[in-house]
Amino acid sequence: MKRIDLRSDTVTLPSPSMREAIAQAAVGDDVYGEDPTVNELEAQVAQRLGTPAAIFVCSGTQSNLLALLSHCERGDEYIVGQQAHTYKYEGGGAAVLGSIQPQPLEFSPDGTLDLDRVAEAIKPDDPHFARTRLLCLENTQAGRPLPLAYLAQAREFCERHGLGLHLDGARLCNAAVAQGVPEAEIAKHFHSISLCLSKGLGAPVGSVLCASTEFIGRARRWRKMLGGGMRQAGLLAAAGLFALRNNRDRLAEDHANALALAQELSGIPGLSVDAESPRTNMVFATVDPTLAAPLRAHLAARGMRVGSGSNLRLVTHLDVNPEDVLAFAACVREFLHASVAAGARRLPA
Ligand SMILES: *Cc1c(COP(=O)(O)O)cnc(C)c1O
Repeated sequence: MKRIDLRSDTVTLPSPSMREAIAQAAVGDDVYGEDPTVNELEAQVAQRLGTPAAIFVCSGTQSNLLALLSHCERGDEYIVGQQAHTYKYEGGGAAVLGSIQPQPLEFSPDGTLDLDRVAEAIKPDDPHFARTRLLCLENTQAGRPLPLAYLAQAREFCERHGLGLHLDGARLCNAAVAQGVPEAEIAKHFHSISLCLSKGLGAPVGSVLCASTEFIGRARRWRKMLGGGMRQAGLLAAAGLFALRNNRDRLAEDHANALALAQELSGIPGLSVDAESPRTNMVFATVDPTLAAPLRAHLAARGMRVGSGSNLRLVTHLDVNPEDVLAFAACVREFLHASVAAGARRLPA
């Protein structure tokens, strides 16, 4: 039975050819700056994003944390989305480890932060307040690529208000592929950008933080302090290089599979597909709350996995092909048709 796991694009497994690339990697001690494969990965990602420097780290969480620590000092503040990964899903690291105060704001429906509302949230220079230093955006945000015109406005806004601008670009490559632009066209608006290799790109481990040489120097010090200095990390970097070379352009296939999935799931009783879906490689759907747990069990018995709750986020990736999409949708359809029909028969006359 083939497993079909739509919980996230983090679940991809390294292919035999990626494992071969890992086995062949030239390595050295990266804390001494001597791992040629790490150095090559950092140079390639910096070039792709158009920044002077980059640093390879173990996770997106660490990458965002290094960025926040490098932008802000104790008692500073960053403005961020209420549902943003850097605020909600990273253990409060900036506050815990950096004494950096978050100022969360609701995302607009398109995944941006309204700049008028950001302006209102900037604190006056007064001892009562934390010092507002940074605006943090996310791209893609819940699968939505941020409009390019907005990014230019956000940068101009930050220049005007003396703020830094960081991008949590965990899925930056999905945004670039969806918008048909090189990553640098998105990255050029930011002072720092974090990119994940272990999401849709399919590497087992790793993220890269890109910025100026001086900024990356600071981030390197923080990385060591946080225990993130890895030695023969070229084994991991080799997988990242392989992922960028072989799996970046094919993200378009994930987006096409998400479109097919949204179409296959629409019109099934007991399930409603969000009108905006698909958003890049994600489909959002709501299932009747009484049917959510039984549907999950029905799928699990057939080797198919989705996240918990009745609001489903279904994510396509490297290990999901068009046949898997059809098989998954057929399984959902079969179960919900039968359940909704049985429920209707039980309704009082
Ligand atoms: C996955 C993700 C990260 C980083 O997650 P790690 O699991 O720490 O690599 C950061 N931001 C967003 C939006 C993500 O989806």
